[in-house]
Amino acid sequence: MKSHKLEDPFDISSLLFQSNEDDANATTRSCYYVGPVTITNTAAVSGRGLIATRDIAAGECLFVTPATVFARVETVYPRWVSRNSQPGTLEEISEQVLIEEMKSLISNKDEQATVGSFMTLMGASASNTTSLSIAQLLGRGSDEATTSFTINDISDNELLQIIRRNAFGPDFVTYLSIEQRWLDHNTYIPRRLLGLFPFAAMINHSCVPNAVRVFAGDTMIAHACDSIKTGQEIVWSYLPPTQPYPQRHATLRHQHGFVCQCRRCTNEAEFWNTPPASLSILTRDSWVRLCNRTLDDVCVQEARSATIRILEDVLQAKDITNETKHFIRVGFAEIYISYLNYALQLTKSVEVDHLDHLLQRICMPLHLSMAACNNASTEHLSILHVCYDLIGTIHSATKERHLTVNKLRFWTAQVQKACMVRYGNLGNDIESVRKAMQHTRAVLRNKDGFAQSTHGFI
Ligand SMILES: [Zn+2]
Repeated sequence: MKSHKLEDPFDISSLLFQSNEDDANATTRSCYYVGPVTITNTAAVSGRGLIATRDIAAGECLFVTPATVFARVETVYPRWVSRNSQPGTLEEISEQVLIEEMKSLISNKDEQATVGSFMTLMGASASNTTSLSIAQLLGRGSDEATTSFTINDISDNELLQIIRRNAFGPDFVTYLSIEQRWLDHNTYIPRRLLGLFPFAAMINHSCVPNAVRVFAGDTMIAHACDSIKTGQEIVWSYLPPTQPYPQRHATLRHQHGFVCQCRRCTNEAEFWNTPPASLSILTRDSWVRLCNRTLDDVCVQEARSATIRILEDVLQAKDITNETKHFIRVGFAEIYISYLNYALQLTKSVEVDHLDHLLQRICMPLHLSMAACNNASTEHLSILHVCYDLIGTIHSATKERHLTVNKLRFWTAQVQKACMVRYGNLGNDIESVRKAMQHTRAVLRNKDGFAQSTHGFI
């Protein structure tokens, strides 16, 4: 744990800050920004939520907030190492450390505004939102605002409930994959494990998000990933929205306690209630297996190829609307990414026609689907990354290169646009786009295929 050899692939500190890590943390820790958003108690999903106070363009920053309280990696890691004598998963240990951090703040008279920020979450139900203020949620409330809480007798279990309902964990990485990396490389230090961001906890879920979050250490940065109208609710996805409907449905129901009624789920439910015979033979376990990219043996890869072929056949059906096609296809992004990498590995020499076929028939519809309902997720950037590499290779290998120049320009523009949406102004600068592309390579876990390319074209 002493040296810091591996970057946390989901942390964008290095993209945002040129200075060394300590300076970057010092800068972000005190950084607050609240853009054109405000709290409402008339949100569609659960009463409380965030809405836009003016029209917002895709890519605009919505807010920046440091964690009010978080579980430090330096505290969690030693306990995880000695877990044999003190049983517990990484998730349980992180929760325990966060509870201790919260209790230490509660007992500190100077930290009552911070305490107020996360205690507010206890009463932040649909029926009790009138007292919520942004200042309170950011831990900057006045002393009077916090005196209404009775915090002397709060139990560990009540704190755990606040954490389970509101805290942000490693997000799009799992605790399991961090544990695996710790076993493989004991030098890996994730910059973030578990923290409370009470203001961000106000945002409701949708599988067609209009906002995305990225992290720089323990600071959360939220961007609009779609245009948002005045008064429209800000929504983001609690889980990777690139999962298929059955998996999203089960996770949201069991881990978050609700059945998602977003327009994507409503739309997809019709399809999945009576799926075509070719898809209905797949059990929930087989979907989980197909989506698990750590499984990459030939059998699973062949099954993915077969599934993509079946899926593309099904999506040709005339009675499925374009919107439904987009929604379904995005739900299989994980399988598509694995399939593309596998297909690329099988291409022994550069076969321009084969690569062009992949780009036109598989990648282009997938990109359009991602743009239609899940713009600029990490997976979308990864898919664009594959497309960009594909067209770059085709461009280099073809004899009449002028024929591919426009296509190369098209994919370069798509990559820049997606970086702009996800990282705001960062996408303006070509050097930053290149860095962002390197950043998203992490999602392409496979060691071979085009994940190894060198971005020679931007
Ligand atoms: Zn949904």
